[in-house]
Amino acid sequence: MMNHPRCLVIEDEPEIARLVRISLTLEQWQVETAVDGNQGLVRAANWRPDLVLLDLNLPVLDGLQVLEQLRTWSQVPVIVLTARTWEAVKIQALDAGADDYLTKPFSVAELMARIRSVMRRLNRDPAGQETAFATPEWHVDLEHRRVWVRGTEVHLTPIEYRLLCVLIRERGKVMTHRQLLTAVWGPHHARANHYVRIYMAQLRKKIEIDPGAPRYLLTESGVGYRLAEPDPPPLEKGAGPPG
Ligand code: CA
Repeated sequence: MMNHPRCLVIEDEPEIARLVRISLTLEQWQVETAVDGNQGLVRAANWRPDLVLLDLNLPVLDGLQVLEQLRTWSQVPVIVLTARTWEAVKIQALDAGADDYLTKPFSVAELMARIRSVMRRLNRDPAGQETAFATPEWHVDLEHRRVWVRGTEVHLTPIEYRLLCVLIRERGKVMTHRQLLTAVWGPHHARANHYVRIYMAQLRKKIEIDPGAPRYLLTESGVGYRLAEPDPPPLEKGAGPPG
């Protein structure tokens, strides 16, 4: 049991806590639960989880407060669980350092996919070490700042290139408008959401096969954007018989 990763679930709805506990236990996680924000912080400090699933609407201390306190001493990955009506808080949580979110009701498959994605990012080499990034349709030479789409080199403006690089560095992770603006344009432009929309549209035109139905530069409705990770190498999946 010692090597099994630990997940702390801070959730006051027993049905959801139970579903999450069962799903994660089946995937070899150790699971602890807390039913309010204070209890969650105490458990996080004492038990040192590898991952936290954090409901945003919690008694005593709400999820955003829990996250802000947690982030003063811990970089543990946090996936927030949120109701559709909590859109604004969800964005605040991402800006405050949450790694991802799930909107209720979510399926077990969605939950596990999010967790795998967050844990995979955690195990990746530190940023800045990569020299290339490739999908089956386009690739970027990060050393020489060159981009090819289906074998043909395309020219990106400096802003487009910077935007693409930020998304590549944080691939798989949802990036809020504010995070993208700060990373690409600087902190003084943190409210100019239309910049991101305009440049994202240009970038899609240049690198997506079908810019109207992007496969990589995905919109997270009302939140921001996410670069879809190319499928992991086959070894990561259970090697099944050939179809
Ligand atoms: Ca709740």
